[in-house]
Amino acid sequence: MKLDLKIQPLNSWMKINHEPLLIAGPCSAETEEQLLATAHLLAKTGKVSVLRAGIWKPRTRPGEFEGIGSIGLEWLKRAKAETGLPTAVEVANAKHVEEALNAGVDILWIGARSTVNPFTVQEIADALKGVDVPVMVKNPVNPDLSLWIGALERINAAGITKLAAIHRGFSSFEKSAFRNEPHWDLAISLKTLAPELPMINDPSHICGNRELIPYIAQKALDMDMQGLMIESHIDPSVAWTDAKQQLTPSALSELMDHLTQRKPEV
Ligand code: PEP
Ligand code: MN
Repeated sequence: MKLDLKIQPLNSWMKINHEPLLIAGPCSAETEEQLLATAHLLAKTGKVSVLRAGIWKPRTRPGEFEGIGSIGLEWLKRAKAETGLPTAVEVANAKHVEEALNAGVDILWIGARSTVNPFTVQEIADALKGVDVPVMVKNPVNPDLSLWIGALERINAAGITKLAAIHRGFSSFEKSAFRNEPHWDLAISLKTLAPELPMINDPSHICGNRELIPYIAQKALDMDMQGLMIESHIDPSVAWTDAKQQLTPSALSELMDHLTQRKPEV
């Protein structure tokens, strides 16, 4: 059975500067200088279509950097004005949605720790009613396809048709080379249930370390996913979050040169 989602094709709401679609930027906006410097280098590659940055960071355990907060929206606005790149941020409640929209953020995404909670997703959906903004929904942290589908349905029912799924892998108790198990089977199931739903792969959070990113990114493209979201930081070694998995803009550019994307059959 197919899901009953109303979806607009990705290329009708996303300006794709370079194939494959790449959404890139730091895990966290840390300082204005770090965000702007990273954004400029990413824009210079010509391979990035959207600048991402987390400003409200849902950390699994307390005591770590929880995001720079609303001030980061001003930095994103400046990055967009200076580079021309549209921006994307994670939202985890209605206040985030309101602030991000007021600041002119172009795309919102729901993080893996929010997708697990139907109350949170519904709160975000309610805040989106009557708003025309693209939303991307990451899979939940745990390997539960229904939660992912339910979150997409709630956002779609709020009237959001510029909708995409982000496959970022699933946590597991088992020891693994990956930070989050890809469980490609779950991504394929969603693709089968909703063939019109764009799916973007996030190799950064699947891998947890930069060495594995080329392998996962290529595999995602081989599976006909429509794009990649990859974390990039001007100096990953000093990143405040996810230091091991971020790539410099130049390493990211080189990676993109080595990936191959199948052309759709005609
Ligand atoms: C992120 O994109 O930086 C993030 C926190 O991702 P996830 O929700 O996939 O853990
Ligand atoms: Mn991250």
